[in-house]
Amino acid sequence: MEKTIGWNFDNHYVHLPSIFYSEVPLQPVHSPKLILLNEALAASLGLDSQALHTEEAIAQLAGNQIPKGAKPIAQAYAGHQFGHFTMLGDGRALLYGEHLTPQYERYDIALKGSGRTAYSRGGDGRAALGPMLREYIISEAMFALGIPTSRSLAVVATGETVLRETELSGAIVTRVASSHLRVGTFQYAAQWGTDKELQLLADYALEHHFPNNGNSQNRYLYLLQAVINQQASLIAKWQLVGFIHGVMNTDNMTISGETIDYGPCAFMDTYDPATVFSSIDRQGRYAYGNQPNIGGWNLMRLAEALLPLIHDNQEEAVQLAQDALQQYPQLYYQNWLTGMRTKLGLFNKEQEDGQLVEDLLELMTQYKADYTNTFIALTLEQADASELWNASAFKEWHQKWLARLTRQPQTKEMSQQLMQQHNPAVIPRNHRVEEALEAAVERGDYSLVNKLLNVLAQPFAYTKEQQAYASLPEPSQQPYRTFC
Ligand code: AMP
Ligand code: MG
Ligand code: MG
Repeated sequence: MEKTIGWNFDNHYVHLPSIFYSEVPLQPVHSPKLILLNEALAASLGLDSQALHTEEAIAQLAGNQIPKGAKPIAQAYAGHQFGHFTMLGDGRALLYGEHLTPQYERYDIALKGSGRTAYSRGGDGRAALGPMLREYIISEAMFALGIPTSRSLAVVATGETVLRETELSGAIVTRVASSHLRVGTFQYAAQWGTDKELQLLADYALEHHFPNNGNSQNRYLYLLQAVINQQASLIAKWQLVGFIHGVMNTDNMTISGETIDYGPCAFMDTYDPATVFSSIDRQGRYAYGNQPNIGGWNLMRLAEALLPLIHDNQEEAVQLAQDALQQYPQLYYQNWLTGMRTKLGLFNKEQEDGQLVEDLLELMTQYKADYTNTFIALTLEQADASELWNASAFKEWHQKWLARLTRQPQTKEMSQQLMQQHNPAVIPRNHRVEEALEAAVERGDYSLVNKLLNVLAQPFAYTKEQQAYASLPEPSQQPYRTFC
């Protein structure tokens, strides 16, 4: 029967030393029901969508039955949570193992909300339906936006309740990621493992994520540089679409450079670097404008963990790590500026481009302009009725930008095409996500969730349907708050 589903587990992580995980006994749920299935993702994994609808598959997606070849474990990791170092680990997730696609790509298949583990501390190991649907919607929106991310294969309702402030319906999401290695996994190894165990973890990371250059002169320094590159690129992509992760603790920052852990994340409406949605981020540590710096801070923690591997002489190791870390701000900025050029239709480079972008953002802050819709309006050359477009300072900026467009060989049409490819016509607007979740969770009506998923799957299609989703929240829907 498993054959028809198509699982092809080939588990490597479990061959790491046993300090890196704990086995998890299955904790069956009462009456699993398949709520969402990602057919496109299933197909790309070489899984059969029809077989995934069978009772047996649903039992697997609920953690009631182990798929053939899987070996459920919880991963051990530590992390800095809002700056404070602590032991963590998968407290409500399990890793079934690594699935090989027909193209021999390797993906972690993990359940979130699957029950208690050795790392649950006081938690119940479970998750509520609303947040699991939210993770599915936002992670798939990120994927469609071209941003590296973990993905969601399915959501299964458990038929059980979880106790939060009130009783909520329980659910489990199946998460697919190129791995779940985190900065915090390395911090854990550095703090509680031997140098040999740390090295085995680093070798695993190199083999899985950076196989081509793992044999460079100093492979562990290379690992650090590679993660710096990946994160500089990832965080620039977040900034370019206005994504606020919300909880950039080191345990939520991957080695692969994929976005992971969709708890309190949300997309910014009005442009403001100080934007925070998470109810627990009272100091604004993870505000939109701080994300690039926090990325750098987290990478320093990774560098510290890797020091014993980078050089036998720790002073030398520190020097090498510092040299690598020093690249980060520039790498980030170049990724960001390159992306901003495309958002403004620029093919060539001019010295003043950075300033042109900064000036626009400054005006957007001043006039409380919507981030996404400002770029849509520029793309479509549709002056909107907002305060920004009526401001004389913006009109001046606009003239400057139009003049800048003429200083490249490409035509206006080509610029517009470039802009359409990089300025999403639709993002997962918080009020639209909430409205869809409410219908699903309160009334069992999944039509809005499915509609939203369809629209978000094509963010760069400038159709009427996408544009209908560009509407802004009502004042009563703000300020928006997220909880994790
Ligand atoms: P997060 O903020 O989602 O990154 O989670 C931080 C830590 O809390 C991780 O170790 C999670 O596994 C753990 N955790 C979150 N929710 C629960 C829960 N309901 N039961 C047990 N552990 C949890
Ligand atoms: Mg986490
Ligand atoms: Mg979380």
